[in-house]
Amino acid sequence: MQKNVIEDVFGTKVFNDAVMQEYLPKKTYAALKSTIENGNELAPEIANVVAHAMKEWALNNGATHYTHWFQPMTGVTAEKHDSFLSAESDSRAVLEFSGKELIKGEPDASSFPSGGLRATFEARGYTAWDCTSPAFLREDAIGTVLCIPTAFCSYTGEALDKKTPLLRSMEAISKQAVRILRLFGDEEVSNVRCSVGAEQEYFLIDRGQYLRRDDLIFTGRTLFGSMPPKGQELDDHYFGSIRERQASFMKELNIELWKLGILSKTQHNEVAPAQHEMAPIFDTANIATDHNQLVMETMKKVARRHNLECLLHEKPFAGVNGSGKHDNWSLVTNTGKNLLRPGSAPYDNKQFLLFLSAVIAAVDDHAALLRMSASNPGNDHRLGANEAPPAIISIFLGEQLEDIVEQILATGTATHSNKGEKMDIGVHTIPPIKKDATDRNRTSPFAFTGNKFEFRMVASSMSIADANTVLNATVADVLERMADRLEKAEDFDKAVDELVCETLKEHQKIIFNGNGYSDDWISEAERRGLPNVRTMVDATASLTDEKTIAMFEGQNVFSRTELESRAEINYEAYAKAINIEAKTMVKMASKQYIPSVIGYVTRLAESINSIQGACGDADVSVQTELLKKCSSLLADARKAVLVLKEVNDKANTMDEGKGQAEYYRDVVIPAMADLRNPIDTLEDIVDKTCWPVPAYGDMLFEV
Ligand code: ADP
Ligand code: MG
Repeated sequence: MQKNVIEDVFGTKVFNDAVMQEYLPKKTYAALKSTIENGNELAPEIANVVAHAMKEWALNNGATHYTHWFQPMTGVTAEKHDSFLSAESDSRAVLEFSGKELIKGEPDASSFPSGGLRATFEARGYTAWDCTSPAFLREDAIGTVLCIPTAFCSYTGEALDKKTPLLRSMEAISKQAVRILRLFGDEEVSNVRCSVGAEQEYFLIDRGQYLRRDDLIFTGRTLFGSMPPKGQELDDHYFGSIRERQASFMKELNIELWKLGILSKTQHNEVAPAQHEMAPIFDTANIATDHNQLVMETMKKVARRHNLECLLHEKPFAGVNGSGKHDNWSLVTNTGKNLLRPGSAPYDNKQFLLFLSAVIAAVDDHAALLRMSASNPGNDHRLGANEAPPAIISIFLGEQLEDIVEQILATGTATHSNKGEKMDIGVHTIPPIKKDATDRNRTSPFAFTGNKFEFRMVASSMSIADANTVLNATVADVLERMADRLEKAEDFDKAVDELVCETLKEHQKIIFNGNGYSDDWISEAERRGLPNVRTMVDATASLTDEKTIAMFEGQNVFSRTELESRAEINYEAYAKAINIEAKTMVKMASKQYIPSVIGYVTRLAESINSIQGACGDADVSVQTELLKKCSSLLADARKAVLVLKEVNDKANTMDEGKGQAEYYRDVVIPAMADLRNPIDTLEDIVDKTCWPVPAYGDMLFEV
């Protein structure tokens, strides 16, 4: 029988369990496996044997180079390739790869953001092998490269990347969750992992059109553009049948992802025209994070092969929905139990209720920090704009759990829970189907969805590492306090009931099951004292809040210095992003829009002159009116360019940091809007054939 394409390609480029069993001696395999599964330390001699096996496997598969693949604080991945060629080579090439090269790399770190953690003259940075995320082969125009997932740190051991804190947070939550499980009598569990499934939204547009827009090229989003007559109001794109060009992209994307062992599962059209989504099956947090980076890179690469451009920006087009990433998160024991599964009688599942209340407490305690973990300049356009969750963190529990929480708050314990009923849709030929115990709520930023939480605020182009680091560390922090208390309890069952009830009482304000898009909620949230953090600049303050520092230091996830450096990096990243946007707008307006409009008004003037020359009393009122209107908008645009240039130049002379970022937010961004307005109005008036760039309608519908 012919093999299915998925079976044929899946995992073929991954140094996975099957490959390890084939290439490693039994003892080495067992040692490595125990490190991967139980977090035991890895002996250096093991690394030598693994390196040898990895090299053999990579060479057998055509690799010429290897690279330590890491995730600096730019949010994208970094790599420097070395060929396997050794110094021993003479007339014959000798290929080598040692344990030392596997476990440690030393890229020059001076050009990566460090937020003052490292002066440029202290350039050393180290990459260290993360053996818990499998090495893989990347095959493209450059040939085949063995990629080794690594963590990246400074000479003094401080994290310079997104992965180190994530790995630390995974250890923290595992430790505390195991303590709790022991109290519930589970002696078998040795390790708890967070499972993560990241749904990725993206846009696909024609690459030829993309290349004609400087804003897309330099900033990833359109900075100008008026809405076409049709946007997303008919809801006809959402889940619509997938057109052939996009379908051929998706087919190739899946194959590339499957080769890399990425469990690409779901594909569909999203709400906005030209918008789509891909969701993989969940995996352990660090692997899911690595995979999501690969998903984004592969989407970009494969799109170009189809003469398409994949836009990962949170808001590529004003007026239609932008893109986000839903970060589905849960806790799973090494014995395979999902700790957020309510079971058939959730009201009586004390262990579930304890973990649930821990998550509620963590999210409430650190709501602003969680909002920060989803912040980038692009996401400021989405959150709170009635297309994505508001910038206020709240938790949706659904009817079933909401009812249980109410019972506990009223009487201290719950005695029953609603069950999913059978549903009758009134057609006898369709068999009855069972409803879930709870409906969905698409407007909630943090929703319980059956056996996991779905954090829906994450930015589409961002690494998911930050969000999961915050979730793990804050929940670990609450679990630690809970375990401290419960370990001392005389009557454990009673102590759990009391703790759950107390926790829910203290944190019930974060629970909200209503419509998160409504204005009522904004004022209600304010009454409840929930933070409404509108921009990345505001959100960044939470990184260096004393409460945050104490929590992260307590869980050994971040030191104070590391947090201060990350806050610096955030302010700089924000300022740089807006600076590039402002400069792009000035350039496009000065070199494209204004000259084109001048051309158009000149044509109008010439038309008036020649018509009147030919026939003195001919009616030229249309041309005259257009000429006046366009000339006046042209003057507005020119004025706005000068203002934008001036304020942006001023921003550039300011010291980097919070003040500069605030100036970009409060002065430069409004100046950008003031320039966009007259240009977008002109776009609706001026002859399309002299408009210098593709319009929204072209890009969104002509794919
Ligand atoms: P929806 O968002 O429509 O509810 P699904 O229920 O299919 O979609 O799940 C969305 C994502 O959640 C997928 O990536 C899926 O693998 C992931 N997911 C499912 N169960 C878990 C879990 N226990 N932990 C983490 N992620 C999960
Ligand atoms: Mg979802």
